[in-house]
Amino acid sequence: MFGQLSERFESALRRLSGESHLSEANVREAMEDVRTALLEADVHYDVVASFCERVQQEALGEAVLKAVKPGEQMIKIVNDELVRLLGGDEALEAGEEAVDPSQAPPPIMEVVPGPTVVMMSGLQGSGKTTTCGKLAAYYKKRGKKVLLAAADLQRPAAVTQLRVLADQVQNDVEGAGSVACYAEPEKVAEYGKAVGAAVTVCKNALARAKRDEVDILILDTAGRLHVNAELMGELRQVAGAVTPHQILLVIDAMTGQDAVNSAKAFDEQLEIDGVVLTKYDSDTRGGAALSVRQVTGRPIKFVGVGEKLDALEAFHPTRVAGRILG
Ligand code: GDP
Repeated sequence: MFGQLSERFESALRRLSGESHLSEANVREAMEDVRTALLEADVHYDVVASFCERVQQEALGEAVLKAVKPGEQMIKIVNDELVRLLGGDEALEAGEEAVDPSQAPPPIMEVVPGPTVVMMSGLQGSGKTTTCGKLAAYYKKRGKKVLLAAADLQRPAAVTQLRVLADQVQNDVEGAGSVACYAEPEKVAEYGKAVGAAVTVCKNALARAKRDEVDILILDTAGRLHVNAELMGELRQVAGAVTPHQILLVIDAMTGQDAVNSAKAFDEQLEIDGVVLTKYDSDTRGGAALSVRQVTGRPIKFVGVGEKLDALEAFHPTRVAGRILG
């Protein structure tokens, strides 16, 4: 991830750090390289334009041009703007301590008493069901009681897949918590005929979660190949019926700008709270990671870094910016 972008940033900024004095001309020249590097990394055009504009404005400020070590100042400006782009404004405002990822607030604020209801949404193949399993593992390790609800009734296989995942997490993942699956497989036959089969499953799952004093209820909902009115209607119905505390959208990093555009469409229809960016391990360019926050206004909460159940990490803007700048 970010390999090429990182190299390009480094060479653009290294040139500046050799200068004892920065001129408007050499700042502009370096920014041209930064701009090209971001575009080649498949970062959204508007995001590139506003990022470069902000960095350039700051860099051309008096303080930087007259600084003793202007190159270092420039790196700091780029770093802070990258952190902002990745959604870390709060960390920047809170200062050094909050920049330490171990001090960062949890990606999902839990409600007490539970259950904290997390609704997962996403297009088919984005990694939504896998991410449900990974989230269950994440919370089992943290001692939580988790219930996965199989509300993707569109694909009969999805119900089975979620059940298998729940068993796998329960049996194979170490942790003080527990994971179970709530499913009504007979509802798959109703899907598309009876309105609201998925809503019923989610409502029943919520009732079960309350009865069993579950901490986290994760709803796996249906996807489609493309964003369409039918899908959005169903998801809005589910959200309206169970009022989730968090609606997370799962997007595939490898699909780059398509992922960002679908995130925008989901957010307009569903008001998501955050994004899980999957296949982060296979995306070499990083365009979706760098664009999604500004385009949708929503933060990346987790990244999927592989197919295994433990391949899910909380997303830390400061750490990622540090990685890009080497
Ligand atoms: P869904 O249709 O959105 O529920 O997608 P699935 O959960 O079935 O996942 C689709 C494919 O993506 C599967 O082969 C998963 O193993 C794979 N996958 C999911 N998340 C990741 C990830 O973070 N990294 C990698 N490399 N593969 C992933």
